[in-house]
Amino acid sequence: MERVVIMGASIGGMLAARGLSGRCGRVTVFDRDSLPETARPRRGVPQSRQAHALLARGSTVLDQLFPGFVDEMLAAGVPQGDLHDDCHWYLDGYPMRRARSPMPVYGVTRALLEHLIRERVRALPNVEIIDGAEVTGLLHTGGVRGARVRVNGVDKEIEADLVVDAGGRSSRSPVWLRELGYGEVPASTVRTDVVYTTRHYQYEPGRIDFAVIMAPYPGMPRTGVTIRQEGGRVVLLLAGMHGDEPPVDDAGILAFARSFPGPEIKDFLGTAVALDDPVRMRFPASVRHHYERLPRRPAGFVVVGDALCSFNPIYGQGITVAALQALLLTRMTGIDRYFTEAARLVATPWSLATGTDLRFPQAEGPRRAVDRPLNAYLAHYRAAASRDPALGAAFLRVSNMLAPPTHLLTPGRLLRVLRSAPGARRVTRG
Ligand SMILES: Cc1cc2nc3c(=O)[nH]c(=O)nc-3n(C[C@H](O)[C@H](O)[C@H](O)COP(=O)(O)OP(=O)(O)OC[C@H]3O[C@@H](n4cnc5c(N)ncnc54)[C@H](O)[C@@H]3O)c2cc1C
Repeated sequence: MERVVIMGASIGGMLAARGLSGRCGRVTVFDRDSLPETARPRRGVPQSRQAHALLARGSTVLDQLFPGFVDEMLAAGVPQGDLHDDCHWYLDGYPMRRARSPMPVYGVTRALLEHLIRERVRALPNVEIIDGAEVTGLLHTGGVRGARVRVNGVDKEIEADLVVDAGGRSSRSPVWLRELGYGEVPASTVRTDVVYTTRHYQYEPGRIDFAVIMAPYPGMPRTGVTIRQEGGRVVLLLAGMHGDEPPVDDAGILAFARSFPGPEIKDFLGTAVALDDPVRMRFPASVRHHYERLPRRPAGFVVVGDALCSFNPIYGQGITVAALQALLLTRMTGIDRYFTEAARLVATPWSLATGTDLRFPQAEGPRRAVDRPLNAYLAHYRAAASRDPALGAAFLRVSNMLAPPTHLLTPGRLLRVLRSAPGARRVTRG
């Protein structure tokens, strides 16, 4: 391949550039936004002000794609903790029993993560990043052969052997492909109506654990998370689903935190010093585009990141999945198989997230026959993890994409669940 054009210079686009840089002559990444020189949130990525978690698998893959990346994060002041021992997890209202683990967790803002990734990509000799440049359509004869790009009001046609859509959730590719005669790109949607609020507080040693995670469950559709971050800060994330919106005023935030099963977040907020105003964002639905199901797939064209699949953010999967897609792009022998392979890659995190979301009766989406018995088992599993740390560790491996979901279903773990679940005690109010 001589030339690759990528639409979108956010995390998905940058990672794809890294993935493809080794197998083509020249990569040009266009972004319509103005890209900052420093680690700052930006307008073109509305979620860049929101709290982000990086799954353990994600940090491993980033280190594979950019050797020394984790050290670079640490050098930039990103705090590191033990995902199991330093974090206080509440699953279905059961406090997970803690234990030392080899799984690291990093408290990094999305802005810093994007900045560090972009600096690494900028250093690649055959990659150029051009901002203020909007991709307005695809060039097409037989297959995709380039992109139409508007810079300073002037339209240009850029020929390419491969065009990558990394344009995020608002990607126009399904419309463009329909107009080009490929038909409707099938999509799966699970509606959860998540409302997200993020605010930063001053970190004071000893006042709160590395991270506290109150996961939602049917009957308690609220999420509360605090994580230590670079810059001596603690980020607070509050989220509600299905019409339960987190407030943005001090008294309301405290009242919301009081409704969590554990007291940690409420206690922290009692004396914490806020550093900014809360920022709110709506996330109506998880959407997965099935390009792999098109009867005729466009040659010379792939889709990555949120443009391919955008997950309910509370599971923190998006960046890790984008990193795995980049790894796929480095390894694939034939790009024409990309959509099939990427669909396989996305299937597990998608079913983990949507299977959990569809426990809520209000969630709208296709329910699989297997979800009901599986969720019944997992409810016992989460309870048992409050007593048996080996079960908690396995749960974290799966939710961090270090092990497949079947890891939770082995006969050994089934026995442990049977042994520990009956004595578990749910906490209902902090
Ligand atoms: C509220 C919220 C919280 C989240 N929390 C997490 C989390 O905790 N952990 C996690 O891993 N993931 C999380 N995610 C997802 C994560 O932010 C994304 O997976 C990640 O940013 C990668 O997205 P992307 O690069 O595919 O798209 P985006 O980050 O949305 O970027 C798209 C880019 O494309 C550019 N663009 C769009 N159209 C064009 C065009 N026509 N021409 C040129 N440029 C264009 C935009 O300017 C932008 O720069 C969250 C998402 C949301 C909404």
